[in-house]
Amino acid sequence: MSGYKDILGWLALHHEATHSELVRLISSADAEKLDYAMGLAREVAVDNYGHGVFVRGLVEVSNRCAGGCYYCGLRAENSRVRRYSLSEEEIREACKKGYELGLRSFVLQGGEVYDKAEMMARVVRELKAEMPDAAVTLSLGEQDAEVYDLWRQAGADRYLLRHETATKEHYARLHPARMTFDNRQRCIADLKALGYQVGAGFMVGSPFQGAEELAREVEYLVGLQPQMVGIGPYIPQCDTPFGDQKRGSVEQTLLMVALTRLALPKALIPSTTALASSDKQGMTRGILAGANVVMPNITPQQYRADYAIYDGKKSCGTEAGEGLQRLASEFQMIGYEAVLSRGDHADFVKR
Ligand code: SAH
Repeated sequence: MSGYKDILGWLALHHEATHSELVRLISSADAEKLDYAMGLAREVAVDNYGHGVFVRGLVEVSNRCAGGCYYCGLRAENSRVRRYSLSEEEIREACKKGYELGLRSFVLQGGEVYDKAEMMARVVRELKAEMPDAAVTLSLGEQDAEVYDLWRQAGADRYLLRHETATKEHYARLHPARMTFDNRQRCIADLKALGYQVGAGFMVGSPFQGAEELAREVEYLVGLQPQMVGIGPYIPQCDTPFGDQKRGSVEQTLLMVALTRLALPKALIPSTTALASSDKQGMTRGILAGANVVMPNITPQQYRADYAIYDGKKSCGTEAGEGLQRLASEFQMIGYEAVLSRGDHADFVKR
């Protein structure tokens, strides 16, 4: 049996580890092992992307949702949330303000609705026409292939759809029967086939998840080879069926970010809002674990509190230049710098 340094070193070099090695590493992780894993992951991130952190402006376009995810405060069954949808004008304005601050990458995220396909296509077309040097990422849940195609034709560059868990039985325990693991996987396959840069991802510490499931996340990602991977701790939301479950650990999240960086050296990995919401230093700790993207919120202020996927969500953003400057100085303190370009995956950089 090899020690944890050998396992991590092998993962960094060959992007593989056996299932039992991963399970052992994850279930036995302590401060020392985490530190070592983060150090290696950081080296790999720096080798591929330098000390730059890509900044994306996040617009939470709507909190209406047909989904029923047991962990998410936006689930259709939650009648306590005040629902909103931004108008086309509000979405464009939010991005335009971000553009003026220097941002060249925008993420439009929202709940799952099926009557806004044409509208979103229009918004994407207009954004791409007005700011051709900016990348547009969508994150609007599970849709038919035709809808993904429509949005791709409109000019969308990337799509974030976390797979949530690589374990089918686990997926079934986190979602109602109308949502299936197979459909989620079908969506990811469609997005890939359409030429999007695709983002997968999962929560750490979600109910019913253990080291076995977490090990499978790494194995799944190596098989899928997504361009982006979003990883954040599970945080309970009081109006959901999982409202009294315990939250995911920050340290375990950092370990999973580091393992993901070692397994997918070129991936774009955000230091997530959920991580920042769980720990004062969460944002910078994520970067020191190998993340290389941050997504500050540029949603119009009056809607932010209503995008309540979990309790205590941080939403300080870059609405003012100060926000970006604060971010830049936080990076500076750990020897990194904000990069405001499109921030494509290394294999997708346009020449
Ligand atoms: N409707 C879109 C966007 C969902 S919100 C979609 O289906 O892709 C983005 C991510 O937030 C989800 O994929 C989920 O992994 C995460 N999330 C939801 N509820 C959460 C919670 N309670 N704690 C932590 N992360 C959560």
